[in-house]
Amino acid sequence: MQALHISPGELPPQCEALRAEVRQFVAHHLADYPVSKRVRSWFGVEPEFTRKLAQKGWIGLTWPKQYGGHERSYLERYVVLEELLAAGAPVGAHWVADRQSGPLLMRYAPDTLAPQIVPRIVRGEAFFCIGMSEPDAGSDLASIRTRAVHTDKGWLINGRKVWTSGANYAHYMIALVRTRERTDDRHAGMSQVLVDMRTPGLTCQPIYTQLGENDFYEVTFDDVLVPHENLIGTEGGGWKQVIAELSFERSGPERFLSSTQLLLEMLDEADPADARQAIALGRVAAQYATLRQLSLAVAVMVSRHEDPGLVASVVKDQGALLEQSMPDIAHELFGGRVDPDSSLAQALNYLTLAAPSFSLRGGTREILRGIISKGLGLR
Ligand SMILES: Cc1cc2nc3c(=O)[nH]c(=O)nc-3n(C[C@H](O)[C@H](O)[C@H](O)COP(=O)(O)OP(=O)(O)OC[C@H]3O[C@@H](n4cnc5c(N)ncnc54)[C@H](O)[C@@H]3O)c2cc1C
Repeated sequence: MQALHISPGELPPQCEALRAEVRQFVAHHLADYPVSKRVRSWFGVEPEFTRKLAQKGWIGLTWPKQYGGHERSYLERYVVLEELLAAGAPVGAHWVADRQSGPLLMRYAPDTLAPQIVPRIVRGEAFFCIGMSEPDAGSDLASIRTRAVHTDKGWLINGRKVWTSGANYAHYMIALVRTRERTDDRHAGMSQVLVDMRTPGLTCQPIYTQLGENDFYEVTFDDVLVPHENLIGTEGGGWKQVIAELSFERSGPERFLSSTQLLLEMLDEADPADARQAIALGRVAAQYATLRQLSLAVAVMVSRHEDPGLVASVVKDQGALLEQSMPDIAHELFGGRVDPDSSLAQALNYLTLAAPSFSLRGGTREILRGIISKGLGLR
């Protein structure tokens, strides 16, 4: 077994000045933003708030100026994300574009699609959804069947994507499709295509969760024609690209901060004289501090252009465990005594129903543990 080397990360002084600025901004713009919305964390969608963040220069923070970006450091970006997530700010509209679609376009379509689209992401005007999962291809992404056929007029797409978060408001999807017949090499013959969500033949059907809400959709492609130039990167090179995209997707602080509002509500409600509460919440705070240190180490690796895949998988795995344990801890400490109209009850009710999905989205617990054991040389 190989050792997991993680260097603790430190934030340079300019990050703390930026932190204060973000806190002030959030306090001003979200003063009346209710807990029932904050608890949705990075799934809260308010395009107007996204545009305000864009005006501050906090979208595309690290991206090159040639694409409208701000060329600031990855650690500054980390601080902005951390503050927004801790406040439960509604960042959902631009989250996917800022986290993975923009970087993907700049890396694999730097001269064609990126100059047209990335500046719009930076301005908070272009939102993205992720077209990976299909009815029979979630963890086993190489089993996708959605097909794109090269025709004189463009790529003709037929098939179905599922669990597509934000398909209702996204302007674009980056879809993983099969551009060649399957062969013995399961990872060959896939490509990524940029799809305008308003293209004729594309329809979205809501999928309701146990919360009774529909954050994600089933997206059907029925002879959807997209221009040839919407192919991202190389035809047939989609697998390598999608792995790079997943690495962007799994490396941020959202992977341990989704239940933060519940922690804050518990701290507000806690009785300082109650030793049981103090011990339980102290343990939780220690776990948050540890995960935060690990997550910061991932940000440092990203800033040094090192591959953060293994450590990011550890943070996501351990982060999901912590996030998912929070409703049980709250029930144990406050259950039966919570005013049903209180902010604590609202956070608890939402997270009790939402938390099971935290170890599914972005790669399931079992898949991440497979990646971790491989990275440690255990299989
Ligand atoms: C809230 C939420 C939002 C999502 N948003 C998006 C989105 O925007 N775009 C998108 O493309 N997808 C999205 N997904 C889909 C998500 O990526 C998939 O749910 C996930 O990859 C698992 O796929 P699946 O649901 O098909 O489950 P399956 O792959 O069928 O897995 C079922 C169970 O079997 C286990 N399992 C599967 N294979 C193995 C294995 N080899 N070894 C051990 N155990 C295994 C899994 O861990 C899981 O517990 C979202 C999911 C959720 C919950």
